[in-house]
Amino acid sequence: MNKENLYGKTLNELIAVVKRFGLPGFAARQIADWLYRKEIGSIEEMTNLSIKMRDLIFQDYEIGLAEPARVWESIDGTKKYLYRVQNDKFIETAYMPEDDRATICISSQVGCKMGCIFCMTGKQGFQGNLTANEILNQFRSLPEFKRLTNIVYMGMGEPLDNITEVLKSLDILTNDWGYGWSPTRITVSTVGMIHTIGDFLEKSRCHLAVSLHSPFDEERRKLMPVQRTNSVKEVLDIIRSFDFNRQRRVSFEYILFKGLNDSPRHVRELVKILNGIRCRINLIRFHPVPGSELQSPDIKSMTSFRDALNAKGITATIRASRGVDIQAACGLLSTLELNKPELYD
Ligand code: SF4
Repeated sequence: MNKENLYGKTLNELIAVVKRFGLPGFAARQIADWLYRKEIGSIEEMTNLSIKMRDLIFQDYEIGLAEPARVWESIDGTKKYLYRVQNDKFIETAYMPEDDRATICISSQVGCKMGCIFCMTGKQGFQGNLTANEILNQFRSLPEFKRLTNIVYMGMGEPLDNITEVLKSLDILTNDWGYGWSPTRITVSTVGMIHTIGDFLEKSRCHLAVSLHSPFDEERRKLMPVQRTNSVKEVLDIIRSFDFNRQRRVSFEYILFKGLNDSPRHVRELVKILNGIRCRINLIRFHPVPGSELQSPDIKSMTSFRDALNAKGITATIRASRGVDIQAACGLLSTLELNKPELYD
């Protein structure tokens, strides 16, 4: 019989576990403490639970941590880890150290339904939602786990299309019975899912990043098919209606494609549609993916675009490209590895 994982369970779920065995409610907090604070690797190590209690839990549960299956390292220090998940699929996790920061970029789904034409994960199609266990295992089983200062949900998948498990993982990361991380060190990125973005804004205090890439409906629809059913204007209206405190940040991700979305006309329209939202724009240089005709802009046009936005009062920064030599674009490595899982047996 397959055992259930304890790691990745929220406090309420752990309370349900201990009640199942007729154990006192406080045992759930003790288990959470072992899982998320003391970072143990086996139920045996939960030494403030009686041996009888541990035996009972052990019958049906295991901790449920899994080491990465493979790693690639870039000359700039970025590492890309591949984790094996459900049904022998693979997900990617990036580790990006920089000065006094160390950021992990985690995946929330296997593949993705959104089909953005510039993304290899989109080309894989959707293969499943990750559980909170699989989302958080990327963080906990990262060899550099202790050095991490920031978490971004910007890996494979659309986090708000897996809202239940993503919210559980954020609960565990930010609560005092969990890892106790400040929500201001965590950013969740979305293409803009109008049915779940409100839930995310209400139930978590983490930063929000919206993938924008074009302010024009028709153009954005060609880049991101999700625009057909989740228009960015509706997303912006939801954001405008939400009361953000000063600690919480909204940012917009804007991948620049040569000759496509980098003109003065785009600057003017961005200023118009973002009016009234306290935000910043992260400009990202497109790195070609196989089978795409989209091209990278040169640095000069990127800086002109940034300067034009800044001149109009929108804070825009160019995000440094990381891990280019290890194909760090989302989905490239797992696509390669999907065809040769025997390497990891
Ligand atoms: Fe999915 Fe994000 Fe890739 Fe779009 S860019 S297909 S949302 S993983």
